[in-house]
Amino acid sequence: MSKDATIVENPYHTARLKPVRKGKKPPKLLAVVHQSGCTGCEVCIAGCPVDSIELVSGPNPDNPTFQQTVEIDLARCIGCQNCTIDCPWETITMYGNTDAFNAWADETLYSELYITENHLNNLNSERGDEEKAQKLEKK
Ligand code: SF4
Ligand code: SF4
Repeated sequence: MSKDATIVENPYHTARLKPVRKGKKPPKLLAVVHQSGCTGCEVCIAGCPVDSIELVSGPNPDNPTFQQTVEIDLARCIGCQNCTIDCPWETITMYGNTDAFNAWADETLYSELYITENHLNNLNSERGDEEKAQKLEKK
């Protein structure tokens, strides 16, 4: 991800509908995917007890599973380490809490959970337009 842009949580991602992490303190360790080594095999997803590993579609919207990758929702990961053990390509690493966010910035090539402010502004405009169109249809 570009370090020049401000990255914010994508409020429209379906992960935001999942239960939030319990407890006041964040876990000591968080998992980060080194996406350059990820094959998108989805093995890690099945073993995550809190369903915090999300698919990121490949570049072709007509064939989204081609060159797909995964990302981990750092806001929901509980640090259990299952995914690091399960990944056949050893491309998930556990980091201390602060280091995890730096590693995420270094190792994340594509994210749908966290997006640039500009991207969020565009999504907000699109949503606003959609809502206006729906209201006009109802009239
Ligand atoms: S460390 Fe555990 S909770 Fe975090 S993403 Fe991996 S499997 Fe899920
Ligand atoms: S198991 Fe490893 S290679 Fe497979 S999708 Fe997960 S992170 Fe990527």
